[in-house]
Amino acid sequence: MEQVQQQIGQRLRQARQQRGWSLDRTARETGVSKAMLGQIERGESSPTVATLWKIATGFKLSLSSFLEVAEPAGERPVIRRVAESSLQESEQLQFFPLFPFDPAFGFELFQIALEPGQEHLSEPHDEGVTEHVIVVSGAMEVLAGGDWHPLACGEAIRFAANQPHGYRNLGAEKALFHNLIHYR
Ligand code: MN
Repeated sequence: MEQVQQQIGQRLRQARQQRGWSLDRTARETGVSKAMLGQIERGESSPTVATLWKIATGFKLSLSSFLEVAEPAGERPVIRRVAESSLQESEQLQFFPLFPFDPAFGFELFQIALEPGQEHLSEPHDEGVTEHVIVVSGAMEVLAGGDWHPLACGEAIRFAANQPHGYRNLGAEKALFHNLIHYR
């Protein structure tokens, strides 16, 4: 937990320095307050998934690039095992980067768990960002193109993510889905 918090802070500072953005400018571009950005950057505060998405979108970066650095692509198979959520627990959304963003491939793949009754709305991403949702357990609904689309286990949807979108679970059992986000 502590380690992830430090990593996010370092990554934020790095992204800001690469662009020569002040905290004021970063606040304008991301919609996250200057005070909050300062706290995150100093590793004093662990951002929620929603806040981290705003930051990533403002910088036109993938979310997972703030969480970890992808293992370089090579000959060796890469085995990944789902661990405890690395982001703020109070938010309940269990969120794990199965394959963090790698510029060689242009996508990141998350496994996300939705508890019964849980809803997560996402800010529009940059132009050209496409999301895929594949339900691997339970059932859920995805908001895309202005409508909520019911999806059963084994079903999938692809949509342009440069619009408001979301995920919700109206059922009684936990839903698990894979979220593949492709960046052009
Ligand atoms: Mn999204």
